[in-house]
Amino acid sequence: MAKQYVFYFGDGKADGRADMKNLLGGKGANLAEMTNLGIPVPAGFTISTEVCTHYYENNLNYPEGLTDQVNNALAKVEESMDAKFGDKENPLLVSVRSGARVSMPGMMDTVLNLGLNDETVKGLVKKTGDERFAYDSYRRFVAMYGDVVLGLRPETEDDVDPFEEVLEAKKRDRGVQLDTELTADDLKELVAEYKEALRKHSGESFPEDPRDQLWGAIGAVFGSWNNERAKVYRQLNKIPESWGTAVNVQSMVFGNMGEDSGTGVAFTRDPATGDKSIYGEYLLNAQGEDVVAGVRTPQKIDQLEKSMPDVYKQFQEICEKLEKRYRDMQDMEFTIQQGKLWMLQTRTGKRTGFAAFRIAVDLVEEGIISKEEALMRVEPNQLNQLLRPIFDPAQKRKAVQGGRLLTKGLNAGPGAATGKVVFNAPDAVEWTKRDEKVILVRIETSPEDIKGMDAADGILTARGGMTSHAALVARQMGKVCVAGAGELQIDYRKRQFEVNGHVVKEGDWISLDGITGEVLEGEIDPHPSEVLQVLIDKTMSPEESKAYHTYDRILAWADEFRRLRVRTNADQPDQASKALTFGAQGIGLCRTEHMFFGGNRIQAVREMIVADTKQGREKALAKLLPMQREDFIGLFRVMDGYPVTIRTLDPPLHEFLPHEEEALKQLAESIGVSFEKLKNRLSALQEFNPMLGHRGCRLGVVFPEITAMQVQAILEAACTVKKEGIDVQPEIMIPLVSHVNELRAQEKVVREVAKDVFKKYDVEVEYLVGTMIEIPRAAITADEVAQVAEFFSFGTNDLTQTTFGMSRDDSGMFLPFYVENKILQGDPFQSVDQQGVGKLMEWGTEQGRKTRSDLKVGICGEHGGDPDSVEFCHQINLDYVSCSPFRVPIARLAAAQGALREKQTN
Ligand code: PEP
Ligand code: MG
Repeated sequence: MAKQYVFYFGDGKADGRADMKNLLGGKGANLAEMTNLGIPVPAGFTISTEVCTHYYENNLNYPEGLTDQVNNALAKVEESMDAKFGDKENPLLVSVRSGARVSMPGMMDTVLNLGLNDETVKGLVKKTGDERFAYDSYRRFVAMYGDVVLGLRPETEDDVDPFEEVLEAKKRDRGVQLDTELTADDLKELVAEYKEALRKHSGESFPEDPRDQLWGAIGAVFGSWNNERAKVYRQLNKIPESWGTAVNVQSMVFGNMGEDSGTGVAFTRDPATGDKSIYGEYLLNAQGEDVVAGVRTPQKIDQLEKSMPDVYKQFQEICEKLEKRYRDMQDMEFTIQQGKLWMLQTRTGKRTGFAAFRIAVDLVEEGIISKEEALMRVEPNQLNQLLRPIFDPAQKRKAVQGGRLLTKGLNAGPGAATGKVVFNAPDAVEWTKRDEKVILVRIETSPEDIKGMDAADGILTARGGMTSHAALVARQMGKVCVAGAGELQIDYRKRQFEVNGHVVKEGDWISLDGITGEVLEGEIDPHPSEVLQVLIDKTMSPEESKAYHTYDRILAWADEFRRLRVRTNADQPDQASKALTFGAQGIGLCRTEHMFFGGNRIQAVREMIVADTKQGREKALAKLLPMQREDFIGLFRVMDGYPVTIRTLDPPLHEFLPHEEEALKQLAESIGVSFEKLKNRLSALQEFNPMLGHRGCRLGVVFPEITAMQVQAILEAACTVKKEGIDVQPEIMIPLVSHVNELRAQEKVVREVAKDVFKKYDVEVEYLVGTMIEIPRAAITADEVAQVAEFFSFGTNDLTQTTFGMSRDDSGMFLPFYVENKILQGDPFQSVDQQGVGKLMEWGTEQGRKTRSDLKVGICGEHGGDPDSVEFCHQINLDYVSCSPFRVPIARLAAAQGALREKQTN
């Protein structure tokens, strides 16, 4: 038997199936499947993608036997629809559409109402009783045929559309504005005039024989696989040329045959909220185009329940059937012709992140999919839509359409915030005391700005990347942040910024969308997250919130499957307790320098820096000791037995001194040194390249008394809390080690202090000494480093910076260009560069464990909350990831996906 190229569907039986997408294209396979399910689908047939491939491989010729197969299928369609192709009494009309394996929206061609000619149009008049409609369909078909099959479609805006020209002339002649004002007779004349235009422009006459029309349209659809639009789309979406498209020929049904007819689109569930109710719109006595064109306002689908209860009931049953079969929410097109429902299309529906979570959980609870499938269907980053305040989409759209989008930066801290612009941290604090909502706008932020950042609702910076100070502090605090919005021209003196021709002054309202990085002028109200209202604010009970139920289920399931543990980066007890609520299993990074700005610690810190003798430093450090101890006591209490990794001082000392002359004068006075001396000290501390300068463990190596004070504070706090009966697991972490000897020197300090503290408190606490791996040399010599380190934590912010030799603070000037021009696939400060930085992580982990088989290995750079990086950490066998509190749930989910994907591939 000859090879099957044509696959019929109709009357409850189809040659194809849903799993034949490669051969029949997505549309053809789904039409076949719906037919097999007993769903009413207008009969038709699919010409397979193999024909397309053959066509291109054989000099635009069809395979042998295709004509016979098409004729046979057409005969079946005629029988099924009780109409005849080319018949003047009862004509069968068809649509001819493309259909590739994956949907390529609007890229290829479609012809509707094929089969009309001067004879059959009369049959259509009889069938519909609507002469105007019949001739309108006919003139549209002639134009479509001219455009699609004969290539008369205008290619540029300056090209004239020959049919538009004729139509405009007719309207002018009749003195009307709209197409709808033309009469049946006008349209009849137009048909003839269109045909004439078609002949004039293409040199061919309009084919009256429906079979010629059909082959013309089939050829055009195959031809459209190689039009410029389709080629570009394929390139962008990595669709192989060899796939080819199928052609679907299907009977037309008419939704405009009276008030018992109509047409519409619907989803089996609400695509915005995920709510389990059919969501859609339809128009009575209308064609598909009318719904899309928006000339008439469609009715909500619920209305159909009232106007055509039987049809609605049947539709509901079909929705259920389709969901069960496809095991997902469907997006459908339908037509009702004289009271009979026809389904024209079904496909998996697009949805918001919010709906994606809700639908996945509901489908598990309805017994349709498994927990594993639910977890793999959602995107971890979309959890932000449940966890953060978001703008009402309609309000935001209105703002953008109204020209209020000012610029775009990096989406550094997800969520939505609105407030009045302030330009410095003290103002942010002051204004919020007056109950104002503020957005802190800075060129970049520094540790000095912490209190202002804490007070503000949102943070906007002009410079800095995804691991800049603003970005990482904002995420840790759970603040909305747009960073590195390079188009902003901030003038602190004038207290205003300029961007793309807009001037925004102090006190003006702006809104930040930290999920997209958009900055908008004016006030847009954010909706609070229900999950936070339940978990953090406790203003809602768990039973009241469907969103919370969704969140809770997904994460409980994620925990069943993940192997990686998830910790948090937190320096304050309130951050730590939030993170615990989100499921953190420890602190993976406490940056002690962040504590230096709390209360009045900064004064003592500055005294320590200015001191030029060891004694002087120790005197100042003694003032800091009790304050740091209190900080750690707070953390240990909250973490209640979970491991707490505390890092010794990391940033260079000059970061803690003020830079303006006035502030320096005040400081000199308050600590009792001369202004000159202070200025000299500041300039002695200045570095050409602070990121590679005297920072990290290099500080502690040169000034061991700083490390000693911090370790004393950590361990005294641990002893105190242990005595309260709370389990403590301190892990002391030494930053920026490149040579094992640096770590040795610091470890010695730690062990000596520990001995003294345990003696003084008469209690011992188990603790670990480990290091961050954030310099390539440390990763390369990890076997040596592990001779001393009891744990490793990859500081991938610095490891990325040092591996690429690319400053994390300055990369904003060129990285966006790199990413846009595909020099790099993505921002390596956001998602681990697996081929480079990742290799160092893998090597470091393996080598470290060769020396010490029970070496605990984690990550605490910002990548610890990025889903792809978390999955990578699972693959290279880390023990845990650590990320900012709000990303803990995202990391839990990503860790589960890593484990599940591994299971799938094994
Ligand atoms: C890192 O470098 O990845 C890290 C966590 O340390 P910091 O960001 O404080 O330099
Ligand atoms: Mg670092």
